[in-house]
Amino acid sequence: MESIQRLTHRFFPLTYTGKCLNTISRTPLLIRPVSGPQQPVFIAPRRGHRSGLAARAGWFLGKGERKNALPDIVKAGDPVLHEPAQEVGPEEIGSERIQKIIDDMVKVMRKAPGVGLAAPQIGIPLRIIVLEDTREYISYASKQETTAQERRPFDLLVMINPKLKKKGNKTAFFFEGCLSVDGFRAVVERHLEVEVTGFDRNGQEIKVDASGWQARIFQHECDHLDGTLYVDKMVPRTFRTVDNLDLPLALGCPKLGVRQS
Ligand SMILES: [Zn+2]
Repeated sequence: MESIQRLTHRFFPLTYTGKCLNTISRTPLLIRPVSGPQQPVFIAPRRGHRSGLAARAGWFLGKGERKNALPDIVKAGDPVLHEPAQEVGPEEIGSERIQKIIDDMVKVMRKAPGVGLAAPQIGIPLRIIVLEDTREYISYASKQETTAQERRPFDLLVMINPKLKKKGNKTAFFFEGCLSVDGFRAVVERHLEVEVTGFDRNGQEIKVDASGWQARIFQHECDHLDGTLYVDKMVPRTFRTVDNLDLPLALGCPKLGVRQS
């Protein structure tokens, strides 16, 4: 999922620093989009790697082969985002290829920045997700908002062939976004608790009991592996641009927060 700093980049494309961000936080006119109910979005790099055009541009600029270039984020409409991804064979997990894909995913997620990324979002149709939320990211949202979302920091998680099980029947409505659907947000209903099992990057079986915002990230990322974007599940009349994030919801839309029923 997309993260808040993306907005600050728009205001300070060349000079973004922590100091700049503090300045923004104290500026009422600019704080509105920064403090809205947005959350990290999910990201995706380009099928394979650099497009021919980008590669040619690199050559033209004298950069030669961009062997270390990160994959681009795949945007909605690319078939790789709308088709189920394939499982990774357990014997392949330790391979150089899979380890490189994981390294690239982590780098792309952090660069975006985002709190989650699925392999199809970098154009690779494999069932691999990475997720991470930090105190720094969380500090950009209001305390009230992060409390309501049950958003807490957690260390980097790499999950291969994840199996997600929804637990209980409690759900919540919150805005979320996706780096593959850049610049937009919509309200999505998600379960508050999930159990996810799979393999870590060393091929060891792992299980995570997630709740709150982490559970939302898991659900969003696992959806990617089934070819599902949040727009396929959103409350349609809540769909909006990031700039309109804080404007009132249309009549008939569910109230943000835990579902009351
Ligand atoms: Zn996404």
